[in-house]
Amino acid sequence: MAGKVHVIDHPMVQHKLTLMRNRETSTSTFRNLLREISVLLAYEVCRDFPTTKIEIHTPIAPMRSPVLDGKKIVLISILRAGNGILDGMLEILPSARVGHIGLYRDHKTLEPVEYFFKVPDSMGDRDAIVVDPMLATGNSAAAAIARIKATGPRSIKFVCLLTCPEGIRVFHAQHPDVPVYTAAVDDRLNEKSYIVPGLGDAGDRLFGTK
Ligand code: URA
Repeated sequence: MAGKVHVIDHPMVQHKLTLMRNRETSTSTFRNLLREISVLLAYEVCRDFPTTKIEIHTPIAPMRSPVLDGKKIVLISILRAGNGILDGMLEILPSARVGHIGLYRDHKTLEPVEYFFKVPDSMGDRDAIVVDPMLATGNSAAAAIARIKATGPRSIKFVCLLTCPEGIRVFHAQHPDVPVYTAAVDDRLNEKSYIVPGLGDAGDRLFGTK
């Protein structure tokens, strides 16, 4: 089964992404843009949420009108850059629970090693939306999803800002059941595992650490 990739090509998303890619963009602007773009990505990720109709009265007439049908969402940020997407998503999903997962790459084995993991109770009742701006090699995202799957969520979606064919291949080889939502699929990875043309190091640009 080939995994699904949803490219969110809305002009507002693409405009903001171009501003984020530009190396002249300051840390504060980058941070604001990531929050704004994440709101737009959240709308797309929620597109298939079920609704139910309730009875209301407008000032003109009674009607049956749709509301969201009680989904229990957990947003899970892959530290640290995932936190930049979290803020925007929480604006439209304010009652979502939040989890965090931290992984680093062991220099010797090159395998992802977990250093932090905290998710809410009752994961079996929840739909997980896992966020990380860059799906690059796909290794840490795939490891994070495997760890999250072990907690038994009802469903999982993965949201990033940018990815590349190599990252999607690795990710979907391990998790063909997890759809990827992204604003763009760039050309490739370079020898340092950066996405090309990409936007550089998302964490450094978000937190001003370089
Ligand atoms: N992580 C980043 O922040 N940027 C890349 O290009 C790849 C991985």
